Formats: sequence, structure tokens, C-alpha cells
Amino acid sequence: MKIILLGPPGAGKGTQAQLLVKNHGFHQVSTGDILREAVKNGTELGIKAKEYMDKGELVPDSIILELIEDVIYRQKSGEKNVIFDGFPRTVVQAEGLDKLLKKYSDKLDSAILLKVDNEELIKRLTSRRVCPECNTVYNLITSPPKKDELCDICGSKLIQREDDRPETVRNRLRVYRKQTEPLIEYYLKKEILKEVDASRSPQEVFTSVVRALKL
Ligand SMILES: [Zn+2]
Repeated sequence: MKIILLGPPGAGKGTQAQLLVKNHGFHQVSTGDILREAVKNGTELGIKAKEYMDKGELVPDSIILELIEDVIYRQKSGEKNVIFDGFPRTVVQAEGLDKLLKKYSDKLDSAILLKVDNEELIKRLTSRRVCPECNTVYNLITSPPKKDELCDICGSKLIQREDDRPETVRNRLRVYRKQTEPLIEYYLKKEILKEVDASRSPQEVFTSVVRALKL
């Protein structure tokens, strides 16, 4: 089974992906990770990708798709249950992925959309705090430090990252909507979009995800 998780920043995609990996043997294919890995190992694709990265340019979709092909079809015997992470982000990328899967008589089975309304997302994202000394991440709502805004591990005063300030958060959400809404439309038309209410606790959301995937 090949799936993708869609949803805005703060919807809990990472948490749900981890739960699928842990409980249902999925393999998470994160384009960020495989890109870094290829660059680190100096593979042919890694060297090509690095040329773009060094110039501060986006790595072309064709290279990302080849990396994905390497990981899920050329290494070992091929991964059966895959969650795509960080890709596709645009309709063009989605079409590229479909084409690649088709080459191996495979297909994307489900696109799970984690739905959370804007106000809840803003609340979640602006509640994030980080320790400037040891980089431990907290959330004042879901995983607060034991002592009021102080790091549990090293006792430093927690800070809010620039990325998590209300204005930046609103902007990140605008960018997400603009980029991803066409993708939602794309998978809706293909009749593989499944919506899950992600405003609940991670465990409740996971129960719905499992049900939506018929696992
Ligand atoms: Zn700390």
C-alpha cells in the first residue's frame, strides 16, 4: 500500500506517520531524508542534487523522483507499504509520482487529509517552545515542560522560534493553502482522498486513519 498524508503544518502528519510505521510496518519515505542521504553518500544523484542545493536552487522534481525510485524499487526487494513524506507538494509532482508508480504497475492507494481549522492550528503552532541550549521542543498545550517555560533537561528559559510567531504562522498557513489546495482537488478527482478530523487527540486521529485505510 502506498499512501500520502496531506495537511497543514501543525496537523500532526509526523505523529501519524510515526504511528503507522510503528504499528503497521509502513516505511516512511521522506524526500528530505533521502536527499540528504544521497548527498552524504556522494551517489550520482546526490552529486547532481548537490549542485542545485549549492546554488540555493530547488532540486528538480526529476531528481527527487529518481531518488524515490531508487529507494522503493531498486533497493532490496522494493518497499511494499510506503508513506510519502514531503512529496508531492504540487500537482505536477503528483503527476510525476503517479507516472513513476505506474511504471512498476503500482499506484497510490490513499491520500489522507488531516483536517484542522485555522484557529486551532494557530493555537497549536504558536504554543511551541524550544530550549535555546539543548534544542528540546515543547508545546505548552500538548507537551508542556514540568516547570513553567523552563527546560526539563537543562533548566534554561524556553524561547519561541521566529517560525512559530503568530504572524509567521499565519503566513505559513497561507502558503500551505495556496500550494496544497490544488493537490486536494487532484486526489479528490482520483477518488482516493480520505478526510480525517485531526482536531482531536493523536490516538483518536490514528484510530480514524487506520479505519480510513482499512488496516
Ligand atoms: Zn534544555
